[in-house]
Amino acid sequence: MNEAEKSLNFIEHIIEDDLANGFTKDQLRFRFPPEPNGYLHMGHASSICLNFGLGNRYNAPVNLRFDDTNPAKEEQEYVDAIKKDVSWLGFQWDKECYASDYFQQLYDWALALIKEGKAYVDSQTAEAIATQKGTPTSVGTNSPFRDRSITENIRLFEEMKAGKHESGTHVLRAKIDMSAANMLMRDPIIYRILHKTHHRTQNDWCIYPMYDWTHGESDYLEQVSHSFCTLEFAMHRELYDWFLDQLIDPSLVRPKQREFARRNFSHTVVSKRKLMQLVEQGVVSGWDDPRMPTISGLRRRGYTPESIVAFANTIGIAKRENVVDVSLLDFTLREHLNRVAPRVMGVLNPLKLVITNYPEGQEELLVAENNQEDESAGTREVPFSRALFIEQEDFKEEGNRKFFRLKLGGEVRLKNGYIIKAESCTKDPNGNITEVQCTYDPLSKSGSGTEESLRKVKGTLHWVSQKHALTAKVRLYDRLFTDPTPDAHKDKDFMDFINPNSLEEITAYVEPSLASAKEGDRFQFQRMGYFVVDQDSSSDQLVFNKTTGLRDTWSKLDAS
Ligand code: ATP
Ligand code: MG
Repeated sequence: MNEAEKSLNFIEHIIEDDLANGFTKDQLRFRFPPEPNGYLHMGHASSICLNFGLGNRYNAPVNLRFDDTNPAKEEQEYVDAIKKDVSWLGFQWDKECYASDYFQQLYDWALALIKEGKAYVDSQTAEAIATQKGTPTSVGTNSPFRDRSITENIRLFEEMKAGKHESGTHVLRAKIDMSAANMLMRDPIIYRILHKTHHRTQNDWCIYPMYDWTHGESDYLEQVSHSFCTLEFAMHRELYDWFLDQLIDPSLVRPKQREFARRNFSHTVVSKRKLMQLVEQGVVSGWDDPRMPTISGLRRRGYTPESIVAFANTIGIAKRENVVDVSLLDFTLREHLNRVAPRVMGVLNPLKLVITNYPEGQEELLVAENNQEDESAGTREVPFSRALFIEQEDFKEEGNRKFFRLKLGGEVRLKNGYIIKAESCTKDPNGNITEVQCTYDPLSKSGSGTEESLRKVKGTLHWVSQKHALTAKVRLYDRLFTDPTPDAHKDKDFMDFINPNSLEEITAYVEPSLASAKEGDRFQFQRMGYFVVDQDSSSDQLVFNKTTGLRDTWSKLDAS
């Protein structure tokens, strides 16, 4: 095995084998096939990275195919959101396709099946059909309508299409084998009546093709070579192939369905149905709530597309299901943000600090580096004055040897500024500290080149000048679920594990340079974590979402 082969995953091996056995490179074509019945989530990101990643690797086209065969659940809003998310992740599709574009062709093929005696209209109730299905260990029973004449089947199917029958009164079934070992082969339903307006075809159709009848045929029409889906479709592969056998033109590419494991992530759920429940029951503010594992939620939370793609590529694809720890995503996120996010100062829980020997009314601008990881990011000026805010937790009257922040009689450096010493503090009647009084060393200013400016003290604190600071609304998030696998409990519903304290909104003070920050801008608030400007932000009121902490959020800050 050479180096290149070693890094191939099992999907790439399938493709390499096909290429070695007569498939040509220009025949390769992939697709990502979302159903527009909800927003895309992290699991979809895996599938997107798989399909578009193969497109990039083999320089092959990838279609974005909307699997829109269920007008009861699908909407244009979801189509638009899906397109936005795939683009945002950085992928470009070749053709934008819709299963609904093939409704006429699928209908014509279904008629052809009827004419060949391979499909029939069943007029039983759904319950009757279900009871005749049999079990994995016992064969099914033929429908009393199984031997309807071809003429009658054509007439009924045409009437179904023409809207002459109520929803649920008839279905079209493929005539395969009611005793097949694979229960999906027991005369599967391929059409049903549904008097619903479709978001694209409006009221043109009142019969809709089922997934199995639609998916492989859509792949074939688009000449997709490899159709990758999740494992629950493994049993459907036989049916996928049976349908193709009925209509395949041997001179064209025959699509191949292969399966990979669905991705599950710790501390969240990735099922559109469950995510919809969170939205509809108002547990979150919408599909793009920053606590949601949706692509739009992650975007609003401040995740970068680069980190999501890097994460998906790192976990790769698997043959078996398992739960991926979401902290791995946070790891790739921090790694990326550390390189690209400008540093600023923001105080989340303010405590007043007054520098008693700094002249009243005086102010100056201190020079601050925007990103020490990236010299090209340059510097900015931060206003300094006598009255500041620091973080409450950064001051204690007394602290042990390991408390490197500010304590009475102790010294710290103010980031980009001076060394200060805490002299005294004021308390309210409840004993809460309301103000710290300090003195500063005028010769110790960072970057001034004096001996004092180079003097090392153990702690460095971030701060903002009271007079110059802007107030900002900051939303802090905790996990949405209290359990690592909320939907894996037999006796409990995933909704039982909702964390009631997953959102906290506070008012913070931030440095004035943030006045020009725009929606989607990401920052590192030094020592506090990464934050992004939310869409609710306006020129009157800055709003930030906390993206993630500087370290693993679940480990302790530092010894104090
Ligand atoms: P959901 O359970 O969230 O409704 P779905 O499979 O019904 O998911 P689709 O819109 O049909 O959603 O999915 C589009 C593609 O994304 C499919 O190929 C599907 O297999 C894949 N996909 C969906 N969820 C995951 C997941 N958790 N991990 C990997 N791939 C996924
Ligand atoms: Mg689906």
